[in-house]
Amino acid sequence: MSNMPQPARLANLGPLNIIGAGLAGALLALLLARRGFKVTLYERRADPRESNAEGGRSINLALAARGIRALERAGVMERIAPLLIPMRGRMVHDVSGSASLQSYGQREHEVIYSVGRAALNRVLIEEAARYDNVEMHFDQACVAVSPEQNLLRFQDRKRKTEFEAPLAPTIATDGAGSAVRASLAKAHRVTVREDWLHHDYKELTIPAAPGGRHVLDANSLHIWPRGGFMLIALPNTGGSFTATLFLARTGPNSFAQLNSSVAVSEFFRREFADAARLMPCLEKEFAAHPQGQLGTVHVTPWHVGGSVLMLGDAAHAIVPFHGQGMNAAFEDCSVLDELLARHDDWEALFAEFARTRGPDTAAIAQMALETTLRCATPCWTPASSAARPWPWS
Ligand SMILES: Cc1cc2nc3c(=O)[nH]c(=O)nc-3n(C[C@H](O)[C@H](O)[C@H](O)COP(=O)(O)OP(=O)(O)OC[C@H]3O[C@@H](n4cnc5c(N)ncnc54)[C@H](O)[C@@H]3O)c2cc1C
Repeated sequence: MSNMPQPARLANLGPLNIIGAGLAGALLALLLARRGFKVTLYERRADPRESNAEGGRSINLALAARGIRALERAGVMERIAPLLIPMRGRMVHDVSGSASLQSYGQREHEVIYSVGRAALNRVLIEEAARYDNVEMHFDQACVAVSPEQNLLRFQDRKRKTEFEAPLAPTIATDGAGSAVRASLAKAHRVTVREDWLHHDYKELTIPAAPGGRHVLDANSLHIWPRGGFMLIALPNTGGSFTATLFLARTGPNSFAQLNSSVAVSEFFRREFADAARLMPCLEKEFAAHPQGQLGTVHVTPWHVGGSVLMLGDAAHAIVPFHGQGMNAAFEDCSVLDELLARHDDWEALFAEFARTRGPDTAAIAQMALETTLRCATPCWTPASSAARPWPWS
């Protein structure tokens, strides 16, 4: 616990709640704990330190400069570095099976990184849990918030009971489907717009070869762009790749058409023949894995006075075609941490946070949508920020 930040003007800020111990919630808890805050973290899922909870949803992610800066700020890069696989560019696979690499940077060390969501989340939770001033509650889902009554309502998913806790101040990091946001919208405290894409996604596996060898280049983000749909694959430590199919929900070349294992295997053999050969469980996984939705969330305002602030996907979920949702959520955490030094009341801090982050997150949301609509080959680049070198090996 070296390089601890100095407590700034925090005496008046007191304890706070965080709802959702996902990527942003766990990192935020860690950053605030390092500053000496008393943090109570509530998470709907089981404790990932006790089970392999995660499955079926963006199993790995591209981590880029913005996210790395926030993780460095929290002092956790040493623990996270072993989880990372550098990707130096996108390997674009055409229908004939030939592939070409498009580098992300001009210099060899300018890369982005593939990281497993579950492992990254677990490290952040473990690091936050090292602080006595962090209390963590798992299997406890927030079901409602009431700024008027200063109350948070929870459901204990193990005991099947409900309980309440004082609301103010709370930071909601409960993701794209935020229950806090829904509750505030229902009470007309915020206005929400959720724009869903006509494309859904499904995750599949390209297993490792015997001995844990990657069967495609391990240091690339693989893309099979096909115009209105595509397959991508990011490498995992252990030799496998997680592939994601992005496809329209209905119409020609759509999920609706892939309604039998024959249809799935014919579609893959026609469109992604080289990848399909590497996916022995394709039809079985296709039937078993969930079909996820993709959308952009707009909320105004992001906070209700000094009672509640939404951050990460809860405030600004975006479509994943720039690979920047987690990176933006991590950047939120580091900006909030930075602003703590300038404020001694939550309302002013939440307001400045929203003012500071609103334009940036709106810009990346728009860029991700433009990529979706315009490009046959999405970017998965570090957006406007430079790729980062590999300083941890
Ligand atoms: C297919 C796909 C690919 C993606 N690829 C990338 C990528 O390559 N790079 C990138 O930067 N981003 C990527 N993203 C975006 C990234 O997944 C999100 O931006 C990121 O997870 C946001 O973090 P978060 O902490 O805000 O939300 P989440 O990670 O969703 O965490 C929310 C947490 O809140 C908990 N929770 C939910 N409801 C409640 C409740 N009622 N009470 C208590 N807890 C609750 C959840 O269980 C979860 O732990 C991708 C997204 C998708 C869908």
